[in-house]
This record gives sequence, structure tokens and C-alpha cells, in this order.
Amino acid sequence: MALLELKNVSHIYHSEQGETEALRDISFSVEREEFVAIVGPSGCGKSTILSLLAGLLKQSSGSILLDGKPIEETPTATSLMPQRDQLFEWRNIKNNVLLGPEIMRNKTPEIIAYADRLLEKYGLIDFAKKKPSELSGGMRQRASLIRTLVTSPELLLLDEPFSALDFQTRINVCDDVSRIIKEEKRTAILVTHDINEAISMSDKIIVLSKRPAHVKRIFNIELDKSLPPIKRREQKSFPIYFKMIWKELEDYDE
Ligand code: ADP
Ligand code: MG
Repeated sequence: MALLELKNVSHIYHSEQGETEALRDISFSVEREEFVAIVGPSGCGKSTILSLLAGLLKQSSGSILLDGKPIEETPTATSLMPQRDQLFEWRNIKNNVLLGPEIMRNKTPEIIAYADRLLEKYGLIDFAKKKPSELSGGMRQRASLIRTLVTSPELLLLDEPFSALDFQTRINVCDDVSRIIKEEKRTAILVTHDINEAISMSDKIIVLSKRPAHVKRIFNIELDKSLPPIKRREQKSFPIYFKMIWKELEDYDE
């Protein structure tokens, strides 16, 4: 059984200005330990999908099953890594990482030990007592990822998490994030508008149409999974995937 299964999911926003149809009949599944990217034109409904998965919104119709259960029955199963790292300057790194469990009154010795282990393993233990502003952009992203990992969620949701970074940092952070997610045996969905990033990091790419988003095409990416993203970019079939996905997205302008 797939870890996540969306079946005919539609979503309409209701506001004072009227209705906005964001998603139309979306179906796809995500296997355990799979890394899936969602790409699509801006404003098409990508963040809406993540909001449904994070339990921040309820779909208008269709079903979302996680581990075979309706997603609203598994509120702690997903964890969202936001676009900006949202680390609080008045808390040190360790206390930022433990913010979620603290708010949920769930800061168990196991969670604290896991946080320490992650900080140690991913090179941040010496910065545990530092303020966010004392860290580089790449380190802050790692801290932000560790924050989403400490509660051991089944599914990580990454909403354009690298868009605030400069190009060089971005490439390195992609490698870090990819390695950490693989080593911690997590399942992840990444929303991005960077096709290269999607191809280099993912097992599968879901291409959405413009709004209301429906699934236009799903690509299985058969690059060498043992390589880090930066090395995958050098593989022969990389530009072929790029062309195919670019073509899919380009069709929208017609
Ligand atoms: P993306 O992440 O792909 O850029 P979003 O999922 O954020 O797109 O938005 C999809 C559409 O839904 C957009 O037209 C956006 O304006 C609209 N939308 C998003 N959130 C709301 C909301 N809370 N109320 C009304 N419309 C919304
Ligand atoms: Mg968005």
C-alpha cells in the first residue's frame, strides 16, 4: 500500500470576492521513502495541495489517505518546511528545533535526544546555543529541516524551501536536504518551480496544469539514486528529462 493516496481531490476557496477553483480532480500516490516533486505554473494550486496534506485545509471533495486512513485522522503524520526558515531570533538553534514539541507540550526525552542526534550528525551541534543570525543561510536551512524532522513525521512537505537562497548555497542545501531525508528514511514532497532542482532531487515528478490544477503528467526519474543531486545533474539523461518537463510546462502558454 502506498503511504499517501490522493483520489479525485478538488478544492474551491470561498471568499468575499467569490469562489476560486484551485484544484480539480487530482489523483496521485506516494510510496514510502519516495521523494516526489510537484511542479507547475505559479498560482496553479501547489501550496493548496500541501495545505491539504498538512491538515490546514479540508478538500472540497475527493479523499486523501495516509497509511490507509483519512489524513484528518493523522494530524501529526505530516510536517511542513516553509519557504522562509522561520527561525526565531530570540531562541537559540536547539530551542528553535524543539519549538514544535514545546508548543504541543510533547517535549519528551526521546524527542530531545533525537534533536541532539540530528544536530550532531548534520554539523550543527556546536551551534546549538547560537542565535539564528549567527548561522549561514545553508546552516539555517538545515536547522529548519531538523525542526521538521524531530517529531518523526511520516511525510515531509517542502514548499519551495530554497527560494530565498542564492544559487551557490541553494545547490549545496539541495545536496544536504536530499542526504538527510534519505539517511533518516523519510518520505518527502517538494514543491518547486525549478525544473533542474526537481529532476536532481526526485524519484517522481508530478506536473500540474495551470489553475485549476489537474495532473498533467507524472514522470518517473530514473537517475542514479546513490548519487547526490549535484552529481545527478551530470548524468546523460538529465537534459532529456529537462526537455520533456519544460515542454509539458511550455504548453500552457498556448
Ligand atoms: P501556488 O502555490 O501554485 O502558487 P496556491 O495554491 O497558493 O498556488 O494558490 C492557488 C490559487 O488559489 C491562486 O489563484 C490563489 O490566489 C488562490 N488562493 C490561495 N489561497 C487562497 C485563500 N486562502 N483564499 C482564496 N484564494 C486563495
Ligand atoms: Mg505556493
